Amino acid sequence: MLLDAALAYARHGIPVLPVHSPAADGSCSCARPECERPGKHPRLRHGLTDASVDPRRIEMWWARWPAANVGLRTGIVMDVADVDSPGGWHGLRHLLGDAMPVGPQVRTGGGGWHFWFRPLGYGNRVGLLPGVDWRGAGGYVVAPPSRHADRTTYYWVTGPGAAPPEAPAALRELVAGPEPPGRPGGGDRRGIVHPDRYASVALAAEADRVARAPVGTRNDTLNRAAFALGRLVGAGLLDPALVTGELAAAARRAGLGRTETTRTIRSGLTAGRRQPLDPGRRSVA
Ligand SMILES: [Zn+2]
Repeated sequence: MLLDAALAYARHGIPVLPVHSPAADGSCSCARPECERPGKHPRLRHGLTDASVDPRRIEMWWARWPAANVGLRTGIVMDVADVDSPGGWHGLRHLLGDAMPVGPQVRTGGGGWHFWFRPLGYGNRVGLLPGVDWRGAGGYVVAPPSRHADRTTYYWVTGPGAAPPEAPAALRELVAGPEPPGRPGGGDRRGIVHPDRYASVALAAEADRVARAPVGTRNDTLNRAAFALGRLVGAGLLDPALVTGELAAAARRAGLGRTETTRTIRSGLTAGRRQPLDPGRRSVA
């Protein structure tokens, strides 16, 4: 069933990747006891860069890992508004009101929602709204009928048969706009007008997000922050030692242990630096 679904997505031009799967007890098939994202991280060494629409490769992967969850690369056929809580859902409804378009919609196993939209050409945006992330170029989502560590299954509320709708203007502006919570205002939305100022606002915003991350999401938040800031380091806009220091301090405030913190920051930064942000075209991976 997972293989059939993977092949169907690929036929629609969506690159597929095998993702680790959760066992009945919620543990992850990666077998690492400290796994922070059970059933949500790629099985492939190169993660989503290996994602493919080639049915032979896909059959090979699921022959090897028949229970693998199905990951879909975003930014090509669709971008996804990834809503992880009822609060996030209300925030999105509040933003869009009656403009909320009818399109492909998933209930995630973790009690969240995925809303598919036509790609906007930007990369991932973490914390677009509280409880809402944007998955764009360089991102991926876990798709139905994958299983969640909560022993539930991702399922379609509205199927992916129709083409994803265009994102409403308010959502497009939010995705294209400056990082919250700085919102310097004005300027060209397609480019960073003051890269240094942008970088310092992003650093403060990410550190703040890490410091306030609830238990259970702290390491994931730290990892995403390190990745996002790593892209700015890669672009020469931030000093890596400054980022490491700020994130480590924020992680301490959030109550994370030092060993875990050091490892997470290092790996997030390294991954982010490999995809430097182009200041001329914000957030395009
Ligand atoms: Zn794992």
